[in-house]
Amino acid sequence: MNHLLNENWHALSTEKTAELFESDIQEGLSPLDIKHREDFFGLNEIKQQQKETKLKKFFMQFHNALIYILLAASLITFFLGEYIDSAVIFAVIIINVIVGFVQEIKAQEAIESLKNLVDTNAIVIREGKKHEISSKHLVPGDIVLLESGFKVPADMRLIDVNDLKVDESMLTGESLPVNKEIEKIEENTLLNDRNNMIYSGTFVTYGRAKGIVVATAGHTQVGKIAHLISETVSLETPLTKKISQFSKLLLYIILVLAAFTLFVGVLRDYSFVEMFMASVALAVGAIPEGLPAAVTITLAIGVHKMAKKNAIIRKLPAVETLGSVTTICSDKTGTLTQNKMFVTKIFTSDNLYEVNGVGYEPKGDVLLDKKVLEKIPNSVYETLLSSYLCNEAYLVEKNKEYEISGDPTEGALIVAALKMKIDEYEINKTYKRLDILPFESDRQYMATLNKNVKKDINEIHIKGSIEKVLPLCQTMLSENSIEKIDLKKIEEEAVSLASQGLRVLAIAKKETNIDKIEENILKEEFVFLGLVAMIDPPRQEAIQSVKACKTAGINIIMITGDHALTAFSIAKMMGILKVDDSFEDVTLNAKELHNLSDEQLIEKLKTVKVFARVEPEQKLRIVDALQARQEVVAMTGDGVNDAPALKQADIGIAMGKSGTEVAKEAADMLLTDDNFSSIATAVKEGRNVFDNLIKFITWTLPTNLGEGLVILFSVMLGFSLPILPVQILWINMTTAIFLGLMLVFEKKEEDIMIRPPRNPSTPILSKELFIMMLGVAIYMLITSTTIFEYYILKGMTEDYARTVAVNIFVFIEIFYLFTCKNLHKSTFKINPFDNKNLLYGVGIMVILQIIFTNNSLMNSAFGTTPISLNAWTLIIFISFIIIFIVEVLKYFLFSKTKVKS
Ligand code: ADP
Ligand code: MG
Repeated sequence: MNHLLNENWHALSTEKTAELFESDIQEGLSPLDIKHREDFFGLNEIKQQQKETKLKKFFMQFHNALIYILLAASLITFFLGEYIDSAVIFAVIIINVIVGFVQEIKAQEAIESLKNLVDTNAIVIREGKKHEISSKHLVPGDIVLLESGFKVPADMRLIDVNDLKVDESMLTGESLPVNKEIEKIEENTLLNDRNNMIYSGTFVTYGRAKGIVVATAGHTQVGKIAHLISETVSLETPLTKKISQFSKLLLYIILVLAAFTLFVGVLRDYSFVEMFMASVALAVGAIPEGLPAAVTITLAIGVHKMAKKNAIIRKLPAVETLGSVTTICSDKTGTLTQNKMFVTKIFTSDNLYEVNGVGYEPKGDVLLDKKVLEKIPNSVYETLLSSYLCNEAYLVEKNKEYEISGDPTEGALIVAALKMKIDEYEINKTYKRLDILPFESDRQYMATLNKNVKKDINEIHIKGSIEKVLPLCQTMLSENSIEKIDLKKIEEEAVSLASQGLRVLAIAKKETNIDKIEENILKEEFVFLGLVAMIDPPRQEAIQSVKACKTAGINIIMITGDHALTAFSIAKMMGILKVDDSFEDVTLNAKELHNLSDEQLIEKLKTVKVFARVEPEQKLRIVDALQARQEVVAMTGDGVNDAPALKQADIGIAMGKSGTEVAKEAADMLLTDDNFSSIATAVKEGRNVFDNLIKFITWTLPTNLGEGLVILFSVMLGFSLPILPVQILWINMTTAIFLGLMLVFEKKEEDIMIRPPRNPSTPILSKELFIMMLGVAIYMLITSTTIFEYYILKGMTEDYARTVAVNIFVFIEIFYLFTCKNLHKSTFKINPFDNKNLLYGVGIMVILQIIFTNNSLMNSAFGTTPISLNAWTLIIFISFIIIFIVEVLKYFLFSKTKVKS
């Protein structure tokens, strides 16, 4: 099969191509061929080469200020003859690098694994039938159908195109979509100009196509350059950037202080060795080395939790932005509503009929004035016949359950038609479809051209919004005749149906002699057949979520292609609008939007909550205007034309089920269940992630500050060091992992969805938190130095006094940890034991301290020594007091905000 790796398919005719691939343009491949080819060509996946980057990542761990300092310290202590210290520091470096490496890989994997959750599917023709399969299983020779919004799954020779436009920018850099043909072209045509080929990784932005796969996986054009477009997910976010900036600044300050310490110390006649060790201690103590890793891990865990709750993060910064969202713009149909539609009313020129029945089961009656009609009125029959013909959905029965395959709006029409017992067999025999103009939201209608074999005439059947279809109609079908259309009556009825929250479609048809649909069919004169009204019930859980978001200070805006009155009514049902909101204040339709200047729109957004008949392009304007109002905007979308708005929004959200690949690619987040509730849940998780990060930072910084101060003061005052550099390393490494990181698992605070969104421009740490941290650091400084001096005065060894001092640090951190579970509320008002991970961590930390103090190996490595029970009691007592200190600080710092909320 190697001859199939030839590249010049563009120079062959479609027939020749199919022949060489032993495929059939109509029927596709057979199962045996497929099996064979799968074995030969392998899965249609592009593998990234990762090995190199892993090694590189490992060595990148050394590229870190702390590691440099430690390396230098290890080397210098070695030459100074302090072999144990040197070895311990070196061990710390290795552990640090390994831990950092593992954490980074884990975080990366967590995020990358999400990619696999969003498998792209392809529609193929095999054995003459359409199948939806995972793109992975495509093989050369497969016949594939494409339509607007699809990501092209393999390189293909086109065999049929229908207004096809393709965005090839990722391959050619050309930003305008290109048109495609099927005729063969010159062999030496350049890749960019081979317009009868379509390449893997590009996007269909318009129209439809059919192609034959000529290359998969590594043989495709993108496959060949895969190494150039390494798609590794960046772990950088605004927050991590801020933190690394902060760390850098801190580093310089610390280095200056360390140099100063060395200088002062030597002036004061300390030995150089001692002073060098002191400056190293200062540097390693004061640098918050655990911080960047903790941030990444917290974000990765947030991503993981969100994925479990149907929100898949595609871009890491979204995790933190979610917590600050102030406005959610949501599509109505399918996101806020169930997208399970049922026709309930049909209006034709003479009457308003009702349709009953249960679910999608094709059983039901038509009623007039609440009475079941024996005979289906002709106008109703014609309306539903056209609806059936102008349709691409079908009803499938799976173990006695009925399901819709295709667009739910069209499915509802199919079900209604079947309820009226139209004879499918007869219709399929009578009507042959010649052409179709599929439904697109921008167009708001759909049309098919069918040949009526019996009458030997062509018919156009059209359905769509009343605004688009009614102006085309000059006449209307009444029971038995065709009359001049009564637009006023029909429009009145449409308004009344829409006001009930029903989705209304107008149906019309006309006889014609054209045999291809062009856009100018709109100039034709149609016969109005009827209005079909369907319900699309709100999702119950979405109603709850709307309420929750409102309580959380988040503004909800509904955006829809539907009629303003329908949207208005649904928005009321969902609680997006208040019962007494007036239509004029809160709704805006495409036309009105069009006529507003940007400034006017910004002004209007004070009150408008429903955008109706929106053209996808207008979503971008809405996002821009909201952002001009300083809102942090989350915006949902599914279509090709939604992509710009999704990119512009602070959080672009694509629908995992109904969304196009184009929208998914542009989005920051995907909803696997297309459900508004999942957005609300993600916001909640996002807030929790941020809370937990701040808790970690608030917990970790005082220790660094405290350690730094201890060293600085003892040198300035001429005391010996209460804690040694290796001891500081011990404290920082163990507590960050076993205590601090456990805050990542903190449960959501009770008021998480009651308080307003976090303003992204406020600093990460408030002034109040800063004061609190300073207080804790000073307490650490005072207690550790006084106790150290106390034991020295009592005549104990320095080792002994240091062991106590180190334990004081660690145990203060332990008790302080519990107070950091909630930074505003009193620790006595929360359940301090509700985070199991945190309890385990504390348990491990206590055991480690006992080993650190009593194990002889540890004693020689870290210069510690066993201490008396009295000393332990003193340590626990002093450390426990931190809880009360923090309580007092919390009371004075946060009591004002408490009153407010
Ligand atoms: P949304 O998804 O926000 O409800 P759509 O763009 O899907 O908005 O629908 C807008 C209008 O287009 C609907 O009110 C309806 O009148 C019409 N419409 C919707 N789906 C179809 C369809 N499949 N065929 C024809 N017309 C449709
Ligand atoms: Mg829709």
